[in-house]
Amino acid sequence: MTGNKGIEKLIRSSLVTFGGYSPGKSPETLEGQVEVPVEGIIKLDANENPYGCSPRVQPALANYPGFNIYPDAGQTELRKSLEKYTGVGAEYIVAGDGSDQLIDLIVRLFVGPGDEVINCPPSFEMFSFSTELCGGSLVEVPRDENFAVNIKAVKAATGEKTKVIFLASPSNPTGTITPRSDILELLDTGRPVVVDEAYYEFSGETVVPLASKYKNLMVLRTFSKWAGLAGLRVGYGIFPPEIASYLLRIKPPYNVNVSALVAVRESLKDIDYLMRRVKAIVAERERLFGELEKLGFLKPVPSRANFILCSVLNGRASELQQKLEKKGILVRGFDKPMLRNFIRISVGKPEHTDAVIKALREIGG
Ligand SMILES: *Cc1c(COP(=O)(O)O)cnc(C)c1O
Repeated sequence: MTGNKGIEKLIRSSLVTFGGYSPGKSPETLEGQVEVPVEGIIKLDANENPYGCSPRVQPALANYPGFNIYPDAGQTELRKSLEKYTGVGAEYIVAGDGSDQLIDLIVRLFVGPGDEVINCPPSFEMFSFSTELCGGSLVEVPRDENFAVNIKAVKAATGEKTKVIFLASPSNPTGTITPRSDILELLDTGRPVVVDEAYYEFSGETVVPLASKYKNLMVLRTFSKWAGLAGLRVGYGIFPPEIASYLLRIKPPYNVNVSALVAVRESLKDIDYLMRRVKAIVAERERLFGELEKLGFLKPVPSRANFILCSVLNGRASELQQKLEKKGILVRGFDKPMLRNFIRISVGKPEHTDAVIKALREIGG
């Protein structure tokens, strides 16, 4: 027992108070705590794809003969296969065990203790998570009341110590886009700029075409949302080739597993199918937005992604989230500085919209 204390004392002091990431809930952990069976839980808390992945993926995995062999550490086939989809050469591309891992690798590559990372909250939690884990110093430049990035303030906060400027577009949890002209202004600072395009397929807007021109631009993408592969963990980034070669050297050698490689290969053969699903989700997002507005006690924020952030006008977001959870509907609740009393609802199938609106009507404001 006393031994434990001794070991704890050896933990890096900066991590003793580290809060960790707050993930969505896994339905199997809610067994017995909600009014529906686990299979009936509607999961709208992690922006996952309600239609699943391409139907080509499962048979390809079932029949794959090589799970006993390590994947190619150089990701040669995967990087080559992404050339056509992204429009850039393989030398620009590095894949990760989810784009979360690429965020972590970027921070590890650039940021040491005392170095500054600019973050524009409310924003994706992994930006601050990885920065703090690396001992970097977080410089927070809040977004404005419409959740737009305050470009002037970001530029004013940028200096010699700035190692990375992080930005998601569309951003999570707001769903808002940062215009290309704003991103160009940030690129002109000359500091490394990361544009996380996890929701690119839903917004249709990208800065990837700028990649060959700007030596300080890094763009992140993922197969988790549009291609429905969140559980297999595969994302990629577009980097200046010199940076890509550093990332390939510092990444864990077998970071993208063989089943993820097989799933990506099949998904890229089925882009039309997957994009029809994306279109259905975008159409459903617009219907969900209208229905949320009609309720009268939520104020939805216009979104270019596959989720809608809502300000809770009457009552507490945390209570609303818990009441929905009891009914078997999972959403994300937020109550922190810059995001007081909000819920975020992922866009599901039409029947999920109907269920969440019905439940919200019953709960009332
Ligand atoms: C979901 C999400 C990711 C995570 O992607 P993974 O590839 O599943 O790790 C990255 N960035 C943003 C902004 C996201 O919302």
